[in-house]
Amino acid sequence: MSDYVAQLLASVKAKNPAEAEFHQAVTEVAESVQLVFERHPEYRATKVLERIIEPERVILFRVPWVDDRGDVQVNRGFRIEMNSALGPYKGGLRFHPSVTLGILKFLAFEQVFKNALTTLPMGGGKGGSDFDPKGKSDAEVMRFCQSLMTELYRHIGPNTDVPAGDIGVGGREVGYLFGQYKRIRNEFTGVLTGKGLNWGGSLIRPEATGYGAVYFAAEMLATRSETLEGKTCLVSGSGNVAQYTCQKLLELGAKPVTLSDSAGYIYDPEGITQKKLAYVMDLKNVRRGRIREYADEFKNATYAPADAESEHNRLWNHKAQCAFPAATQNEINGQDARDLLQNGVYVVSEGANMPTVPEGVDLFVDRGILYGPGKAANAGGVAVSGLEMAQNSMRYSWTRKEVDDRLRLIMKSIHEICVGTADRFGMKGNYVVGANIAGFLKVADSMIDQGIV
Ligand code: NDP
Repeated sequence: MSDYVAQLLASVKAKNPAEAEFHQAVTEVAESVQLVFERHPEYRATKVLERIIEPERVILFRVPWVDDRGDVQVNRGFRIEMNSALGPYKGGLRFHPSVTLGILKFLAFEQVFKNALTTLPMGGGKGGSDFDPKGKSDAEVMRFCQSLMTELYRHIGPNTDVPAGDIGVGGREVGYLFGQYKRIRNEFTGVLTGKGLNWGGSLIRPEATGYGAVYFAAEMLATRSETLEGKTCLVSGSGNVAQYTCQKLLELGAKPVTLSDSAGYIYDPEGITQKKLAYVMDLKNVRRGRIREYADEFKNATYAPADAESEHNRLWNHKAQCAFPAATQNEINGQDARDLLQNGVYVVSEGANMPTVPEGVDLFVDRGILYGPGKAANAGGVAVSGLEMAQNSMRYSWTRKEVDDRLRLIMKSIHEICVGTADRFGMKGNYVVGANIAGFLKVADSMIDQGIV
């Protein structure tokens, strides 16, 4: 690591204590872009990286609401408006008890580069709350969303900041948030993406992140003249991204064999079929149940509860060729990465954001497997959000095929940009370096054009 990058990282840690995930995300990008600084010292002179790591604005607010028993509850709401060099801030809202400022800053930081890779005009942001939707009634979720939006509305807008969903925020939550925004502002605008189809949503938006991660894996495999057909795939999570990852894998003839939630995972050696996936979608999206129930329904599958004491996650310890982490950050630790490699996995396409710890990333890159980091592989979600914004501006809707074709083209172009940039900087096949540098250059050049702001 260069002295410059080492000093920069020391300063980030000192200025942002107790934000381990943010440090991790910044370190990965800074290590990649030192290759740029060696060739182009002018980027250092404008302190562009120092500016990129400082959010343009952080909004932190109280979200009080009343539960079904009549008790008052208090949560925290956040919006990180990280970078607007390329367009309005854009990025999801996460509702999960683990949400902190540091988690959202890491996500907002990643989002800046990811959005740049999509080729669409979107800046980067992220937000959310430590509210836990699990076990809450629909009425409680609605009251919480209304309270959150009663503050958030003054900071967002179709040309300012356009939130979407993330963990714990799906169609139901986006609906309640949109309804409250519209009521307060008396405006029907494209202020959120992931909306319902009847009121401004885009076809393929729910599917986009999972489909995109699979398209990205297919592009990586194509560089070795291979396809996904017949490949056994490990998938984690069982929410939005995991479900549509499985759906696209099945369409392309692959065989997904695992799914999980925070309580444990299921392994189905015969494969999760379309019929079984329909069961999971009903279980998770309608009945809001636990993945354990899959093993009660389908007897050939086994369920293993999560074990916080274990040094590895057994989900990653099955024979397979491909892995699609689609749950949460740092879900693949160093031992998990070794297990994956040992079991024959040579394609990892990250549906989740930063799901692999740095040790695991190094192992994948050193081994030369096809490793697509989240900011490239899961960019399909925000890309179709960008397409939703475009359709809202035109007051027009594209067909399913039109949106899916555009998504496929965008994933193909992100793949090309990563490969081409890695090549240009002498790091052939390294998608991490390719994604980080390509995203950085687009944002940095735009910031330089716009002056010191
Ligand atoms: P969902 O809320 O729909 O699903 C999340 C899944 O991950 C659930 O199965 C959940 O289990 C599990 N999970 C969440 N937190 C943890 C945890 N701490 N430990 C173990 N399991 C956990 O979210 P999404 O599918 O939308 O998001 C999944 C990942 O994809 C996230 O990293 C998100 O940032 C990323 N992503 C999402 C995009 C989108 O368009 N939705 C776009 C790009 C990236 P449980 O229900 O038990 O908590």
